[in-house]
Amino acid sequence: MSKFIQSKTNLPKYFLDKKLDEETFSIEIDNKFPFLAPHAYLEKINWQNSEDPLKKMVWPDEQEAEVKAYEIKDPIGDEPHLAVPNLVHRYPDRVLLLLTNRCQINCRFCFRRELTHHSSPADLDLITNYLSNHPEVKEVIFSGGDPLTLSAKYLTNVYEKLSQVSSLKIFRFHTRIPVVNPEWLDDHYFNFFQKVAAAHQLVVVFHINHSQEIDKKFIESCGRLRKIGAMLLSQTVLLKKVNNDAKILANLFSNLTNIGVKPYYLHHPDLVSGTHHFRVSIEDGLKLIQQVRNKISGIAMPTYVLDLPGGRGKVPVEALKKVGPKTYQGTNFKNEIVTYLDPAEETNED
Ligand code: SF4
Repeated sequence: MSKFIQSKTNLPKYFLDKKLDEETFSIEIDNKFPFLAPHAYLEKINWQNSEDPLKKMVWPDEQEAEVKAYEIKDPIGDEPHLAVPNLVHRYPDRVLLLLTNRCQINCRFCFRRELTHHSSPADLDLITNYLSNHPEVKEVIFSGGDPLTLSAKYLTNVYEKLSQVSSLKIFRFHTRIPVVNPEWLDDHYFNFFQKVAAAHQLVVVFHINHSQEIDKKFIESCGRLRKIGAMLLSQTVLLKKVNNDAKILANLFSNLTNIGVKPYYLHHPDLVSGTHHFRVSIEDGLKLIQQVRNKISGIAMPTYVLDLPGGRGKVPVEALKKVGPKTYQGTNFKNEIVTYLDPAEETNED
């Protein structure tokens, strides 16, 4: 059986096998951003629960068709910061390497769901050249899509090429695969990570949004990566009706800390097209983060951050100043004062 379900045609069989009523699960597939999930992830969903948080993250919702006027195609502004194709240079000391736009799951709230600028193979000579000419860059962040959709052989090839740049010290990987399809990480990937960790600081950042996503295999993978010497971090997106609850977030952050994964970022949802139903207001997010802080150790607390639209960079939400109804101001990494209008505040008044 295929390890993935990605079209309407093989959905019914999955549900018939599980003795679930396929009518209940009929959906219209959006060809631009179709349903896609690995079997391993579907198995973590409680299909009897219509409010299951994991189901909400992958199941297409008719509300996605409603695109609000304030929603944008490139909410965190990667495109204006493309230094060379596939390489985003926004912050002075680090770059984002976008090797693929493929993932093993289509998260309905994905902030890169409409982007295609990293769908073609990277020109490694061009990238290495750029990095050699920018010794202020110390860190390369492999992102995408999910960089672990690429073979360990290809990743090794990329790493060996970039290793020629002596100013690079940290190799960071942003991935959701160890969470959604942990079986995918075979010995080839661990051998690759071992190679990286032998010569550089290796950092692996898992995208994880709910404790229900943690399973035995994921915990085993974390153990293996820690043995290799990887620094393990997590990032979580704050999502209405998925995890906007202090108990759910506190559980997630303490469970991650218990297995050696430091919660790094809690992201305020971006202004992605067709995702208004996931959005919480800044006010509610701030109340929530205080409640979470009251429940867990400081070492388990991530920084609650907002990516300012237009590629202006991240700011801690707790450092924002409210200057008017729905209006916040924050100072970004360039010391610019940036204004952010919170559309979700209006929604709360509906
Ligand atoms: S894994 Fe990340 S990049 Fe891929 S669909 Fe989900 S949110 Fe988007």
